[in-house]
Amino acid sequence: MIQFDNSYARLPEGFFARVTPTPVAEPHLLALNAPLATRLGLDADWLQSPEGVAMLSGNGLPEGADPIAQAYAGHQFGGFVPQLGDGRAVLLGEVIAPDRARFDIQLKGSGPTPFSRRGDGRAWMGPVLREYLVSEFMHAMGVPTTRALAAVSTGETVWRENRLPGAVLTRVAASHIRVGTFQYFAVRGNEQALRELTDYVIQRHYPAANGPLSLLDHVVARQAETIAQWMALGFIHGVMNTDNMAISGETIDYGPCAFMDGYHPNKVFSSIDVKGRYAWAQQPQIAVWNLAQFATCLIPLMGEHNAAVEAATKSVHHFAPLYQAAWLRRFGEKLGLAGSDRILPMSEALLTLMAQQDADFTRVFAGLSDGSARDEFRDPAAFDSWATDWRALNPDPELLAHANPVRIPRNHRIEEIIASAVAGDLAPFNRLFAAVTHPREALAEWDDLAQPPKPDEVVRQTFCG
Ligand code: AMP
Ligand code: MG
Ligand code: MG
Repeated sequence: MIQFDNSYARLPEGFFARVTPTPVAEPHLLALNAPLATRLGLDADWLQSPEGVAMLSGNGLPEGADPIAQAYAGHQFGGFVPQLGDGRAVLLGEVIAPDRARFDIQLKGSGPTPFSRRGDGRAWMGPVLREYLVSEFMHAMGVPTTRALAAVSTGETVWRENRLPGAVLTRVAASHIRVGTFQYFAVRGNEQALRELTDYVIQRHYPAANGPLSLLDHVVARQAETIAQWMALGFIHGVMNTDNMAISGETIDYGPCAFMDGYHPNKVFSSIDVKGRYAWAQQPQIAVWNLAQFATCLIPLMGEHNAAVEAATKSVHHFAPLYQAAWLRRFGEKLGLAGSDRILPMSEALLTLMAQQDADFTRVFAGLSDGSARDEFRDPAAFDSWATDWRALNPDPELLAHANPVRIPRNHRIEEIIASAVAGDLAPFNRLFAAVTHPREALAEWDDLAQPPKPDEVVRQTFCG
């Protein structure tokens, strides 16, 4: 049994559409995140019971749920779409955890909604397992992120390039409010709704903020921290559209995301990102672009227009120093250095060498601890010279071990576990999940999962799903 408290569904009508999940033929639990259930104050045994699985598949609505699809707009690859909304997701409700923190419980892939347009409202097993793994890895590394409570197969097929098994993901988030949620009301000139949304967000996420400008300052600061963490893991979100940027600062909407194997700042994996708008090195710039859209929505609430524009602009420009500070802190930790004035030149020199030699991002940093980093370079002499300077700075082994994962969810491994899961074997998924949610533990039995792809295993493209 779940006790829901649905504060978003108590907002005015135009914020959402009331909708119920579409039942599925034959739900089967693929994965249940028992530690997350406990963190939320939910009963993992109940979630695995037929009644629980019915809820997690959209087949049974728990008492007290008030399911809705949220309205939002968004810039997709820079082009504005005035109405997007949850086209394949249903917010069942909010739970209040034992520590009083409030979380959205959302089903993703649970059938059509009034926002589905031409989509089928469904998800297939591949992207569901992918999001489950990647979001829980991000959490294990301390990156603000939505989380995965469960994955259920539906016993139905969905059409993508061909017939694929369907699945539903239960996603947990501080909230699903996005930059695009504000844009939805701003483009309609609905100041009343913008004010209500702003008040709601301040109360729910930033109680220390004392108005729209202060809220903007808080969101800018939170995003600067999150994006710096992505950069430090070689993570490429892939679809940083404004509808995929959460106001809470959590990483949201794992679609064609990927972690780099070989390092290059211009790496792109998403099949639809043909111009490289969301390449690794572009992410901080794009965050600023998105935050400028958020600021634009808030300006009408900020008093005299020209003064508001000036204040909002200043707030958004503050991203750069905040991000630089966060980046230096993160990359400093990755080099085992705290507070040294050598962090920037040493990081830049190492990254330049890595890019020149296609060195594996994760293995270079993880290999600083035991000296194996040099094996990642075609010309180890250049690295050795860098490493001599670096060792002279007395790097802290504890910082190194904490900041640098031994294992990441590598693209080729994700594809492998998806293929097995589709064939009915979940053992590889379970093994990879255990390995990437203990990303700092160098266990011999997981050594194969820390290896880079062989030339014929390299994944060059990822898809939205
Ligand atoms: P995304 O690219 O995942 O951020 O999704 C962009 C928009 O497309 C959102 O409004 C989604 O709800 C919608 N969408 C994505 N896939 C589907 C689908 N299979 N059915 C209906 N709507 C979808
Ligand atoms: Mg989205
Ligand atoms: Mg998506």
